[in-house]
Parts: sequence; structure tokens; C-alpha cells
Amino acid sequence: MASGRELVTEPMANKPLLITNATLVTWGDENRILPGHALRVVDDRIGGLGPDAEMRARYPEDKTLDAGAQLLMPGNICAHTHFYGAFARGMAIPGDSPKDFPDILERLWWKLDKALSVEDVRASAEIFMVDAIRNGTTTLIDHHASPNAIAGSLDAIADVVETAGLRACLCYEVSDRDGPDKLKAGIDENVRFIRRSVPSARPVWRRHLGLHASLSLSDASLEACRAALPEGGGFHIHVAEHESDEYDSLKRSGTRVVDRLQRHGILGPRSIAAHCVRGCARGGDPGRDRHVGDPPTAFKYEQCGRSRRHRGPDPSWHQGLPWHRWVLACDVGRVEGGLLPAQGGSP
Ligand SMILES: [Zn+2]
Repeated sequence: MASGRELVTEPMANKPLLITNATLVTWGDENRILPGHALRVVDDRIGGLGPDAEMRARYPEDKTLDAGAQLLMPGNICAHTHFYGAFARGMAIPGDSPKDFPDILERLWWKLDKALSVEDVRASAEIFMVDAIRNGTTTLIDHHASPNAIAGSLDAIADVVETAGLRACLCYEVSDRDGPDKLKAGIDENVRFIRRSVPSARPVWRRHLGLHASLSLSDASLEACRAALPEGGGFHIHVAEHESDEYDSLKRSGTRVVDRLQRHGILGPRSIAAHCVRGCARGGDPGRDRHVGDPPTAFKYEQCGRSRRHRGPDPSWHQGLPWHRWVLACDVGRVEGGLLPAQGGSP
């Protein structure tokens, strides 16, 4: 990984790079597709773009890279993922097929994450970084769990992300499932990581306290998490990933998941609500005042279904929700300043 970073960043930092013969896709508010264009990179930043011949004439001394007319576009953002899931690819669950999502949690994910050491966590992040780079994803929002290797796990992931030269937003997944000591250790790992002083240029953001889901957190635990969150932070939590989350919330509180989380101060403009698959609209709109991480890859792994966003237009679901509040994992999305700082901002 280290040698890969040297190859990519050092020539750029030393001498402007002109990527020629590219088809530029700009995205943004006014998406443009510009064939026959060139893009100039100066000190790892975009230093200009324009028609190919014009840019070549203007910057004859630049180092050049011929894009071969391929697409050149901003890096993708993966809005919700689990790096340790790299170990579950192609893994079959022994015995009968799982009957539903809670069964998958019990028989796959909660067995896998308990087996992880900090070194395993590091290795899974390395695998993920390779795939991200290969697929043009440069920013990842991760949700990590390793109940038997909690302390320091976020630092191990951060080291890998920084070595890879990518950007990430990291948190540790807190839940009641392994008892009060693990709950406290999870909260402590998040708070320690958020508060750890790091140079402002480092590309890992420390803003979120990770929560598994409403279904694995008591009222007291939600309150403990809210009380522990450092000022300026937010939460990253699975919301209504499966109907069991809604039924559990109704049983615990008489309200659906979004309302329960609202009541405990978990959702807000700095929080990420992942999935939101089930009919949250009747229990409040999870996207109105917060960000929704909506990962298609999870549909493949969990078979929970798709959010209404993917099933087609449904005004009752996302009416009034600015597009940039939806951040599609493994797809492009713009993340505004409330969630992630602009590039180069403090972590
Ligand atoms: Zn998830």
C-alpha cells in the first residue's frame, strides 16, 4: 500500500500533471460530460480543465498522462460500509439457510466480528482500500465492530486509510448485545478516537459515535451514548434495516424507530441514518434533517430489501429532501459541510 501511495502522490506534488485526452464528467449541480478535454493537477488539487489542445498549449512543461479517451470523474463516495465485511465475501453460513435478517446477524456477522483481532481489522481494511482504489472510490464512511478487540481498532483502520491515501469517516458500533462492559468499551473507543488530537491535514474524520441499531440498544444505552458524544459530533446508526427493528421499537417504546431515535436525540444534521429500508414515513422521515447512507451492496449481502429511494419515486418518502442528503454507497454523492468538512478541513 505504501508504495502505491508514493507512485500516485509524489509526482503530483513535485510537478503539475496534465491528464490529457479524457472524457471529463464533472457531476455537481450542473453535470457536464466533456469529451476531448484535459485536466491539470497541481499539488494533489485540480488546477484547471479545458479542451485538450488548449490545455496542452498552455502548459507545455507539465508531465502528461494520456487517458485514452476514458472517463475521468470525481472520486466516488461510499456512504455506509463495514470494512471487516471483506472477510465475508463468498462465505456460506453452515446449516440451513438463514430465515431472515436477524438470523444472518446472529449466524454470520456477530460471529465474524467476535473473531476479529486488531490485526484482522487492519487486514480487512487493507483489502477494502485496494478495492476502493480499483473502483475509483476515494471517500468511505465505515461502521466498525470487533467486540473482542475494541480498544485501538479505529486507530488501526485510520492508519490503513491514511497509508492508502484515501479519506474515511470512522466509528465503532456500540450495542447491548455483548453486555454492559462491551457497551462502555465501545463508547470509550468512539470518544477517545473523536477526541484524539491529530494534524489537521490527515484525511480521517473523527465525528461519529457508531450505534448498531435501535433493536440492540436500550433506552439507558441510547442516553449513555448521547451523553458521551463530544460537542460537534453526530451518530452513525442502522435505521429500519429490517422490519424487526420497527417491531422491536414498537415493543420498547410504542413508537417506530425514527421517532424513538428522535426522542433520544440521536438523529440530527450531523448524524447518518443507514438503510432506512422499511416504511419509515409513517414513523417520521429519517431523511428530512439528516443524511441517509443507502448502500446497494448491503441489499446483496443482507437481502433486506431496498429503500423506497431505490424502488422508485415515492413523494411521501423523500419529499422536500435535498438530493445531497442522499448519499448512495458505491455511487456518487456530494456530502455537505455539516457531515464532512471540505477537503483539507480539520478532521
Ligand atoms: Zn451496515
